[in-house]
Amino acid sequence: MKANTTRIREFIGSSLLAQAFAGCFVATHVPILSIAAYVASGAAISAQAILAIILLATIVGTAFAFVVMRHLLLPVSELARGLKSYRVEGRIPRLVKQRNDDVGRLTDEVRALINTLEEKLNRLKRQAFSDTLTGLGNRRWLAEVVGAEIARSRREQRPLSVIVLDIDHFKRINDAFGHDAGDEVLVAIAETAKRVLRPYDLIARLGGEEFCAFLPGTNLKEALQIAERLREAIAALQIETIRGRRVTASFGVHEGNIAREHFKDMLRIADDYLYQAKGGGRNQVQTSEAQPAVMQTSAPGSGFNES
Ligand code: GH3
Ligand code: MG
Ligand code: MG
Repeated sequence: MKANTTRIREFIGSSLLAQAFAGCFVATHVPILSIAAYVASGAAISAQAILAIILLATIVGTAFAFVVMRHLLLPVSELARGLKSYRVEGRIPRLVKQRNDDVGRLTDEVRALINTLEEKLNRLKRQAFSDTLTGLGNRRWLAEVVGAEIARSRREQRPLSVIVLDIDHFKRINDAFGHDAGDEVLVAIAETAKRVLRPYDLIARLGGEEFCAFLPGTNLKEALQIAERLREAIAALQIETIRGRRVTASFGVHEGNIAREHFKDMLRIADDYLYQAKGGGRNQVQTSEAQPAVMQTSAPGSGFNES
């Protein structure tokens, strides 16, 4: 008997339909139960009293049905509100499973769906913002993070410098040793840049054999020293797949004018200096000639320059 009652309770607890049915069943029987109780009480039976009891019991039954339905359906409204705020504002709702019935299962499914969507979205974002070959961020990522970095540098009145570098005669490396060997050179240069630059510097592969680093809190003099260190480290690389041939890169360095310049302006100016470095014989660091205190380095000549 007890086992049967438990089973019925479990069945009703796990089925929204059974709970709704049970609520309605009780609510619709309130008038008849009230009349039965009235008759059983032995009180004098009058038409007015019966009508009054039916009216009152119907109101009580209706209120009971309302409370039961509200209790059953409230989590559905909360779920809908949570989903809307997720869709409109991207805020992940805190979905708490309150019951074991169909609404509880719906909550579980929606939560699982949101988790799957978030995982896929994060994977896509990572792919959209990174360069698969080198693992560095790509141009899109750089534009995004540098935008925030420029705003911070403005607020804190800190300098921000940019280094752009392009591998010298990279096409010849590909032609001589194949595209895969060229890829290895790109990876080696990305790793060298990560090693030489500081953890908070923002490094990206802009595309092809061009890389860029934004250096927060770094003035032109410091940026030139860092670029020079990187130039030397690249020229010293021993890469097996290109049989130890020397790889070099040319550099353009610029300290951004935080008040006026945006990401694209800084990049364009650094790129102009990079072209000067190419024109000046490659394997060198170039910056603004209008800066008397700056160091301009030149160490032309690499295995691939001479041919
Ligand atoms: P410069 O010194 O003037 O920069 O000459 P360069 O040969 O480095 O420049 P150019 O623009 O003539 O050639 C760039 C080459 O880079 C051509 C292209 O095939 C190669 N390249 C671009 N992306 C990749 C890549 O992902 N992997 C490999 N292996 N090669 C690439
Ligand atoms: Mg090049
Ligand atoms: Mg290039």
